[in-house]
Amino acid sequence: MRLSRYFLPVLKETPAEAQIVSHRYMLRAGMIKQASAGIYTWLPLGFKVLKNIENIVHEEQARAGHIPMLMPTIQSAELWKESGRYDDYGQEMLRITDRHDRDMLYGPTNEEQITDVFRSNVSSYKDLPLTLYQVQWKFRDEIRPRFGVMRGREFFMKDGYNFDLTKEDALHAYNRHLVSYLRTYERMGLQAIPMRADGGPIGGDYTHEFLVLAETGESEVFYDSQITDLKFGDREIDYDNVEQCQAVLEEFTSRYARTDETHDEAIFNEVPEERRRSARGIEVGQIFYFGTKYSEAMGATVQGPDGAKVPVHMGSHGIGVSRLLGAIIEASHDDKGIIWPEGVTPFHCGIVNLKQGDAEADEACEAIYKSLTALGLEPLYDDRNERAGGKFATMDLIGLPWRITVGPRGLKNGVVELTSRRTGESEELPPEQAIARIA
Ligand code: ATP
Ligand code: MG
Ligand code: MG
Ligand code: MG
Repeated sequence: MRLSRYFLPVLKETPAEAQIVSHRYMLRAGMIKQASAGIYTWLPLGFKVLKNIENIVHEEQARAGHIPMLMPTIQSAELWKESGRYDDYGQEMLRITDRHDRDMLYGPTNEEQITDVFRSNVSSYKDLPLTLYQVQWKFRDEIRPRFGVMRGREFFMKDGYNFDLTKEDALHAYNRHLVSYLRTYERMGLQAIPMRADGGPIGGDYTHEFLVLAETGESEVFYDSQITDLKFGDREIDYDNVEQCQAVLEEFTSRYARTDETHDEAIFNEVPEERRRSARGIEVGQIFYFGTKYSEAMGATVQGPDGAKVPVHMGSHGIGVSRLLGAIIEASHDDKGIIWPEGVTPFHCGIVNLKQGDAEADEACEAIYKSLTALGLEPLYDDRNERAGGKFATMDLIGLPWRITVGPRGLKNGVVELTSRRTGESEELPPEQAIARIA
């Protein structure tokens, strides 16, 4: 992409309404624009990162054997009356009446809708196990939308639902989700710690929230510092292997790690004092096993091997896709701007031409642009007639992992400058070597 043809409405001033750094940088970098309280337009740069995050979610769900689909955002209230949640959900649910006076709502989550799909189409245990998911917009009329996309009213969420014959099978599905989420967050450059959470209105003992530690997080968390040494890494995993998935769950959840809702001072005090931590965290996902709560209420049954009809065991599993942009920036930035992890960056490399219009510099930039593109990388070429200082400031703000700076002086010696956004270190190299370093 050439910056002269792109749409990157960078702000010079720091927007006064933004209280935390991720919100400030997302506004300043021209990633989002507030449309109304808690509702955002995703400008091209923000949209690109949002899609990168969504793609990682899809890839990891596919690896786990989960099946993508798409449900509507507007739902009929009927299903929610069946489950009993229409009255329970309260004011966070945006209720809508259509022209025929039918009660509708903008979905805050989809347990009812997916259970309806299931009961209409599945009647035998032979079709199980089944895990369906979507990445779709949700609406919750949050009492205090704030921190930009972190607590929006409209937000993008991956929500997945497993259907199993037995509790044991459903717990394997739970473990599969835990493993796939660990991989998902790590690919985004994040450490998200599974913490024992509260079932809330959904209920049940089996639920973990995934938290990214950050001072600006809204959750209070307590954990054994050993947990931060755990890494999933690139180990091989067979998602059908029950013992293997169970072992990962045990490895990642055996140490003390709880949100304030489940925190237990007495148990926490058994952790050696020097390892006890209390901190703040951002909830970027949650997994649940809730048994037959919805299947019983809504008649989602299958015929078991013995011919008897039984309600299916279910769980639901969510990732806050749009919140993740904020969480990643909170975890990875400096005073100049965002520092994107390689896995989610909107462009792989910035090219800064120090002297636009200089035949040699222009030609060298074009050649670098072509080489990077041919390697399957996406460069952002700042080909505007601007001062070098302004170009550098923009590149630092939008946080691409690499910058190649091209100017007549370097070219005389056959070199360009390669700068790492994360370390800030620069090196002079022949263009081919700079390209090889990035690829
Ligand atoms: P929170 O405790 O932050 O209100 P939640 O527990 O109500 O979140 P879930 O129902 O578990 O949310 O939804 C799954 C994920 O969706 C959350 O882990 C979070 O990452 C994301 N999410 C929830 N509410 C919002 C919101 N208002 N804005 C952005 N993302 C959200
Ligand atoms: Mg909530
Ligand atoms: Mg929560
Ligand atoms: Mg939650």
